[in-house]
Amino acid sequence: MGILEVKNVNKRFGGLQALGDVNLSVAENTCHAIIGPNGAGKSTLLNCLIGKLIPDTGSVMFDGQSVLGRKPHEINQMGISRVFQTPEIFGDLTVFENVMIPCFAKRDGAFRMHAIESVAAETDIVDQAESMLAEVNMLEKRDIVASSLSRGDKRRLEMAMCLSQTPKLLLLDEPTAGMARADTNNTIELLKQIKARRDITMCIIEHDMHVVFSLADRITVLAQGTPLVEDTPDKIKGHPKVREAYLGE
Ligand code: ADP
Ligand code: MG
Repeated sequence: MGILEVKNVNKRFGGLQALGDVNLSVAENTCHAIIGPNGAGKSTLLNCLIGKLIPDTGSVMFDGQSVLGRKPHEINQMGISRVFQTPEIFGDLTVFENVMIPCFAKRDGAFRMHAIESVAAETDIVDQAESMLAEVNMLEKRDIVASSLSRGDKRRLEMAMCLSQTPKLLLLDEPTAGMARADTNNTIELLKQIKARRDITMCIIEHDMHVVFSLADRITVLAQGTPLVEDTPDKIKGHPKVREAYLGE
C-alpha cells in the first residue's frame, strides 16, 4: 500500500474525458513524477488530490483515509501540501514574515496578524521560522521584501512556508516552470536536500526531463487522461511507447 492510492479515477469536463480510469500508487518517502504532453490531465489529477476538483468516479486514499468530499484546507491538515507553478507568497511582506504566517496558522489553527512588537515574544514561532529559513538556506535574506526576490529564492521561500506545515506529501506542479537554468538547478538541489533530511513523499508534475530524471524514483506517463506506463527513470527513458507518445519519436 502506498501513502497515496488513486483508484479508477475518472473526470469529465462536459464532453471531454480529462481523466480516464487513473490508477496511481505512490510509495511513502519516494519521489514520484507524473509526466505527459500538454492537456494529458496532469493538473486535473493533482487538483483531484487536493480537493479543488472532485472526481466523477473512483477513490483517492491518503495515509489510509479518503480525501474525497473534504475541503482543500482539511486535506492540507491531513498532511498534503502543494506548490504551484507560480510561487504563492506575500509580496509586500519580508521573507521572515512570510514564513511566520504558516507557523502561526499551524499553532493557532488560524492566521493572525500581529503587531511587530509582539512577534519577538512568540519565541516558539520565531525559532520555528528561523529553522525553516535555515533549511532552505534563506536565513541571511530574512529581512528582504519577498517581491524583490529572484524566481529561485521565491520558490525557496514558498518551500519554507510549505515545510513549516510538516507535510507528509508534497505535491509540486511544474516547480521550475519559467526558471532560468541556474534557478532550476538550485531548485533540484533544494528538493534533493529536503528529500534526504525529512520523512516526506513527493509527487511532481514536470515538463523538464532534467528535473524529472534528477529527482524521481518512479515515473508515471499520462497520455490523454490515462496512465500509459509506470516505471523507474531508466526504464522510462528507453520505453518505445514513451518515446513515441511523449518524446515525439
Ligand atoms: P495538463 O496539466 O496535463 O496540461 P490539464 O489537466 O490541465 O492537462 O487538462 C486536461 C484536459 O482537460 C485539457 O484538455 C484541458 O483543456 C481540460 N480542462 C482542464 N481543466 C478544465 C476545466 N476546468 N474545464 C474544462 N476543461 C478543462
Ligand atoms: Mg498542467
